[in-house]
Amino acid sequence: MRIDDLDSAALRRLSGLRPERGKVLSLYLNLDPSDFATPPARASAITSLLDDAARQARENGSEHDEQVALREDVERARQFFERDFSARQAGSLALFACGPAGLFEALRLPRPVASEAVIDDTPWVEPLARLGTRERVCVVLVNRRHGRILRGGRESLQEVAALDDDVHGQHDQGGWSQARYQRGIEKEVEDHLRNVAHALFRAWKRAPFDRLVVGAAAELFPAFEHHLHPYLRGTLCGRVDLDVEHAGHDDVVRAVKPLLDEHDRGREGAALARLNGGLGGGRAAAGLDAVLTALNERRVEVLLFRDGDTAPGVSCPRCGWLGTKAAECPVDGTPVDRRANVLEDAIEAAVLQSAEPLAVRDHGDEIAAHGGVAAVLRF
Ligand SMILES: [Zn+2]
Repeated sequence: MRIDDLDSAALRRLSGLRPERGKVLSLYLNLDPSDFATPPARASAITSLLDDAARQARENGSEHDEQVALREDVERARQFFERDFSARQAGSLALFACGPAGLFEALRLPRPVASEAVIDDTPWVEPLARLGTRERVCVVLVNRRHGRILRGGRESLQEVAALDDDVHGQHDQGGWSQARYQRGIEKEVEDHLRNVAHALFRAWKRAPFDRLVVGAAAELFPAFEHHLHPYLRGTLCGRVDLDVEHAGHDDVVRAVKPLLDEHDRGREGAALARLNGGLGGGRAAAGLDAVLTALNERRVEVLLFRDGDTAPGVSCPRCGWLGTKAAECPVDGTPVDRRANVLEDAIEAAVLQSAEPLAVRDHGDEIAAHGGVAAVLRF
């Protein structure tokens, strides 16, 4: 079976999934090479994960049909790990299964997450949101003659287009030969840069990405940046030095990752600055109660939470209302479900209202000071 990379579309799809029948088995497998470098170490991690899932399946299914379906899901997961699974180019792996809903989906995650098995009414997506949802990365390598476009996540990129300087004949029209003759070689380089920038914009229109990294020599970079569509300039994280023609996949990943990590830290800092600025003027919420209220009112733009935190709460099975404690939903009077970690529901709700969930790593203390969870509000 196919293993997809995590992106915001996958997170959104899984977050919105609520099977009418059956429980969902969510499995996370840590592939951190410092802990699970050897095949035997990985095999034993897989065995204990599946044993834990099987034990929970026995204890969790309230009805006989549910138990049978869960046992089958665990068995399919076991077969998946035996047959289809490869640890290459992933920090960890997530697998979601619910036989009655026809769900069986594996995602390659860019960074390690703790191994665990969860059985619940919905896919358990909190570890995915913690990884960040804006993982659609594009890298363009460009020199005076060649261009290459790679797409994927930060730790797994695939080349999707290669352009060399004879491509620009396809884009220029009437009167071009004369003009080109007069411009000479430097203008030709400029044409090439423009063509690569246009190809990049076409690639973005087919499938948008959130982060762009340019691999180009420092002296060529300003001219290339000039030709980038304003939309693409908005996604630009920076420039790296790479051998445009010969850099392999691993070289590109190695060069790009520190830049993206730094970009993440900047994003975190910017969100915290907006949070602190907004708290005085009512455009931000701090603490679980205030944040859940804002989510219920669909006002959240950025949801900030401390990486790895959990908090108990309640949710309405009918309308999705979230709270910290209530016996019934204040909107429709339905008895609420107790949630061991209402933060997970909060993240799902944020994703569904097109807000950005942001797992805070470097400034965890600041979020703790705001009650462990906070939000920048749209209004
Ligand atoms: Zn309700």
